[in-house]
Amino acid sequence: VLKGTGSGALPPMLEQYVRMRDEVAETLPHALLLFQVGDFYETFGEDAERTARLLGLALTHKSSRDFSTPMAGIPLRALDSHVERLLACGVCVAVADQVEEPGSGLMDRRVTQLLTPGTVTEERHLGADENYLAAVATGDGYALALLDVSTGEFRCAAFHTRLALYDELARCRAREVLLAPELSGNAALLADFQARFPVMLSPASFEEADALEALRATLGEVPPSLASGALRRACGAVLGYARVTQQGRLDMVRRVVRFEPGAHMRLPDAAVRALELFQAQSPQGRTLTDVLGQTRTAGGRRRLRAWLRAPLLDELSIRARLDAVEALTRAPDLRGAVRSLLYRAHDLERLAARVSTRRAAPREVAALARTLDLLPEATELLGAQGGLLGGVRERLSALPDVVTRIRAALVDEPPIRVGEGGLIRDGFHAELDELRAAAIGHRAWLADLEVSERQRTGIGSLKVSYNSVFGYYLEVTGAHLGKVPADYRQVATLKDRARFTRPDLREREREIARLEAAASRLEQEVFTELRDSLAAHAEALADAAGALSELDVLAALADVAAEHGWIRPVTSDGPMRLVQARHPVVERSLGGRFVPNDVHLDPARRAVLLTGPNMAGKSTYLRTAALCALLHQIGSFVPADHAALPVYDAVHTRIGASDDLAGGRSTFMVEMSELAAILHGATHASLVILDEIGRGTSTLDGLAIAQAALEHLHAAGAHTLFATHYFELTRLETDLPGLVNLHVAAEEVQLENGAAGSGGLTFYHQVVPGAARQSYGVEVARLAGLPGGVTSRAARLLTALGAQGADTRLTRELATLDLARLTPMQALDLLHRWQREVTGAQTTSP
Ligand code: ADP
Repeated sequence: VLKGTGSGALPPMLEQYVRMRDEVAETLPHALLLFQVGDFYETFGEDAERTARLLGLALTHKSSRDFSTPMAGIPLRALDSHVERLLACGVCVAVADQVEEPGSGLMDRRVTQLLTPGTVTEERHLGADENYLAAVATGDGYALALLDVSTGEFRCAAFHTRLALYDELARCRAREVLLAPELSGNAALLADFQARFPVMLSPASFEEADALEALRATLGEVPPSLASGALRRACGAVLGYARVTQQGRLDMVRRVVRFEPGAHMRLPDAAVRALELFQAQSPQGRTLTDVLGQTRTAGGRRRLRAWLRAPLLDELSIRARLDAVEALTRAPDLRGAVRSLLYRAHDLERLAARVSTRRAAPREVAALARTLDLLPEATELLGAQGGLLGGVRERLSALPDVVTRIRAALVDEPPIRVGEGGLIRDGFHAELDELRAAAIGHRAWLADLEVSERQRTGIGSLKVSYNSVFGYYLEVTGAHLGKVPADYRQVATLKDRARFTRPDLREREREIARLEAAASRLEQEVFTELRDSLAAHAEALADAAGALSELDVLAALADVAAEHGWIRPVTSDGPMRLVQARHPVVERSLGGRFVPNDVHLDPARRAVLLTGPNMAGKSTYLRTAALCALLHQIGSFVPADHAALPVYDAVHTRIGASDDLAGGRSTFMVEMSELAAILHGATHASLVILDEIGRGTSTLDGLAIAQAALEHLHAAGAHTLFATHYFELTRLETDLPGLVNLHVAAEEVQLENGAAGSGGLTFYHQVVPGAARQSYGVEVARLAGLPGGVTSRAARLLTALGAQGADTRLTRELATLDLARLTPMQALDLLHRWQREVTGAQTTSP
């Protein structure tokens, strides 16, 4: 490990280091041990090299007479920022602190913190968002357990396919994934997991017996909902691992919620990304959460994200949320009052978790009290409300009054740490008050001493002062030294003065120190007792915290709706009808320049083929429809003048080209595997958004795949919005009864004497019936500034290619024509269409 040079035995400190490192490795095999040596946390040997590389530190050497090994260290005060970087790199960290005062000989050290990306609970290492530790086991399908140690949220589910599991893991952005040996032992599977997720290798036990033990230790029993061995093993592994990293404290976890992946709208991770729910695709871009996320609390923000990840399927639940949002949109005063109240709330979910694990520091308990103080006010505000808001009110008022206790015990602005004194309020604890009063008596005596000694000695300039070396002392200037009484004992001589002490002064001083130490110990006891009494209400605290988060989301949704003129959608039994719909994010950045559009889908018109030039607004139109569907199912108002929406079982999207470089797959391969998932998954109740399918391959391949996919979705009955630059596809309207052509209006403006530059094409962003006339690709290229010679040559080539394309198609059609069954009228129709295609002319019907 240490790769030391030299033959000598390890120095004792390094021996201690190696021993601790081995101990840590038993639970966290790849963790870095940061080992306190005075003012630094040091790493040695291989770990020093690793640390230096990860953190960009200078590598030094720890050398004794006949031994030398690499060493890299970070200053004590820089621990947090370095730990943060290590965690971000997916590295686990163990911190060993010196636990005795420096003296001679080897110092005692103890591992005080085990920090892993998925189990940190310190606010300073956490973002405001959820932080999941995950475990996966297999049995009958795949079992997943998800734990957010910072809030105590604990969920699990079983999945039939690995893809469904991947999807859930990706959507949760699990920070750390534990794999059961049957998965990690399979090299191909392991590689597949590792390419996608931050997998931690084998630190947790997936043994059934250990799992049962871990479940009982944390939840008191093995919940009956964990119906399979795989579920129990995944849940047990997560708990066992979390307990180790929390050094035994896992009280924030009180129950496990088994969720049904099918109980919510399916929203694959590809759709989450394409619709930019949480993360914009361009660096300055905004997300749906940014637009909706005027939540006022961290808990509210997490809740909103949870709602977006799992839109509802149940019409009644959707209606309940919509009712609450509507009530808040109609009552601007109530909404304003609720939101300004929430503004003053701290992260109650995390505070509740920290109180229940007895980790909360005095300041956190005070923050808890300040937040709980708001609850009666909130309850009163919601007084008249029914439905969800009524439920919120009940959960907020169910908490017994713990604030009075906290307020009575704690001072208003407690110190950061226990032990600094001044934590417990006067009058709360008799013994503490006595200790304090006694200390004050001694201090008063000290304060009076100056006056009385001046009188006694007749030295008007005598002073009583304090410093850390002598404690309290009496100071006399040179001129008066002759008047110093006999009971003074000189402790220091300065140039023009001297310092003295007296036995009784020492006595008082020691007494003050003793009293203060006793008071501090007592304060600690009183605080611990207070915190324990709060922990007893952990369940109710967590409930109230949840209610507050929910209220925050509902108020935020109401606020965005009221501010931006969104309307309440109606749940339909099939059709989607949006009148003057807007894209919630694009509209915000374009302001009044956004052109609203209608969307209309029903069984007779279940697929829309949308054509139009690049940059016309096809993609925006598609996303608008998908986002409105999503908003409806989280119980939000939608940006439109009128909206009727069905409850979709899934929203699938395949938008744009994205490389999966990490996964080593080509753009086309990614596109096709996403398409495969959509075609397998889409039902008649799904909404499918496909943008430019088949781009990554040759035109003919792409066209063929696009057409086949469209036919498949049409047959499946899914609501499909399909944007394409393949104009050949617009012919499908005649073959597929449920398909309609729409296009985005654009107009070509004739330029005088072929001047280059902008102005060739005007976009109206207006979606209108029928197929687009042509692709305008060459005009867009001209807009983008391609040289005039190139664009005019391209235009000539296009005409020639177009004619060829039509020729081959006509030949194909002619070859397969069943002449025996063709009526003269149909033949004439065909001839007419062919002629029109070849000439591109607008001939009149015969
Ligand atoms: P396409 O998919 O046809 O290439 P996009 O949907 O990406 O086009 O839109 C291109 C740009 O046009 C957008 O970035 C946006 O600024 C603008 N745009 C799109 N739709 C609208 C609209 N309805 N009203 C106003 N501007 C729009």
